[in-house]
Amino acid sequence: MRTNQMNFRTDSGETRTLRPPGTAVYVQVPFCPERCDYCSIPVSASRSLTGDYLDALAREVDRVRPFLSSRPPVSLYVGGGSPTSLPVEDFDRLLSILSTVFPQGGEVTFESRPEALTKEIVDRLRTIRSLRLSLGVESLGKASMALLGRRSEDLSPVLLLEDLRPRLEASLSMDFICTGEDFDSEGFLEVAEALFLRGLDHLSVYPLVIEERTVLSLRKEQGRTGESLEEAAAENWRRVCSGLVRQGWFRYEVSNFARDPGRVCRHNLHVWQGGDYLGLGPGAHQKTGIVRYENVLSIVDYVRMSGAGNRHPTGHREVLLPEEEEIEHLYTNLRLFSGVSVRWLLSRTESGKAQEAIDEFVRSGLARIDSTDTESFVLTGEGLCVLDAIASRFFALFPGSGE
Ligand code: SF4
Repeated sequence: MRTNQMNFRTDSGETRTLRPPGTAVYVQVPFCPERCDYCSIPVSASRSLTGDYLDALAREVDRVRPFLSSRPPVSLYVGGGSPTSLPVEDFDRLLSILSTVFPQGGEVTFESRPEALTKEIVDRLRTIRSLRLSLGVESLGKASMALLGRRSEDLSPVLLLEDLRPRLEASLSMDFICTGEDFDSEGFLEVAEALFLRGLDHLSVYPLVIEERTVLSLRKEQGRTGESLEEAAAENWRRVCSGLVRQGWFRYEVSNFARDPGRVCRHNLHVWQGGDYLGLGPGAHQKTGIVRYENVLSIVDYVRMSGAGNRHPTGHREVLLPEEEEIEHLYTNLRLFSGVSVRWLLSRTESGKAQEAIDEFVRSGLARIDSTDTESFVLTGEGLCVLDAIASRFFALFPGSGE
């Protein structure tokens, strides 16, 4: 699929990016029944703040409504945390608060832990049009579950899919993390193939990265994890990604695979392609034009700031310089199947050296030129494995990079 958003045009001799229209809305629900050992997101396992959080969210939704009336929502993504793990009465209230930001006919995604899908929650989800459900399966097998500190039941993704399909009309996605030495790549690929054959719409697959201030990072510091855990995880992830493409999955972003081009996550694609987005809830991000905000991380601060004089709960605000926006544009688009316009890249960098780099990456099989629409520089599977190195080579050619 060629998406319609990534267009370029010449204005007074300049090329400039046209952003996809509309606003993608993200809502952070910062509650989970328990904390996983690899989790670096501020979530609370206590329910004592749920009511205050929902009050504050309702105020934030009221505040952004005028903005959304001029730039309507094109998608809604409710993540966390685990929104569907809220008690049913809180989940009902969440749906009621969000009813005014549901996109007309656009995609609505809810993240969910598989075990949260009780009959009551599925009944509520059934009322949502254009629903996409992103299931955090994360790991297969007891060893990986134990490493990640997932205390959920060890379940079969295939049985989960077979159970959900007749109960819920939705586009279904599953998230997985490739771990280290104990990870069985071949076993994972067998499961992925069975899921593909049974009609799963989407897969997200990430290598395990040990973030700071997590239980896993503490275990690493104490020497209680394998020395090369992350290297082994990255190697397993690379093997799995190549296997998924061989099975017929469409890799449209470095870690995201759809069963066909019509099943991509439109919300994320909008964000990656530079569209405006609003994030509501603690720690959520917003970007409108070249201005970026991040809400305060702590639930308590979020509630306090929204309550006291109905202030915007901003923790951080920055205005992107044109060159920062361009570097961000390059990096996010190198991650995508649609790649980067060659004309744009040459117009923004030292063109002779950039052309040399393009030719070299194409010759070595790390990239190809796609001429379907405009000429685009697109990374191959091998190229995506060394994305950072390729991006750095081009970053150095932007004016003011110091090279
Ligand atoms: S389910 Fe996700 S958000 Fe919740 S604790 Fe685990 S990793 Fe964090």
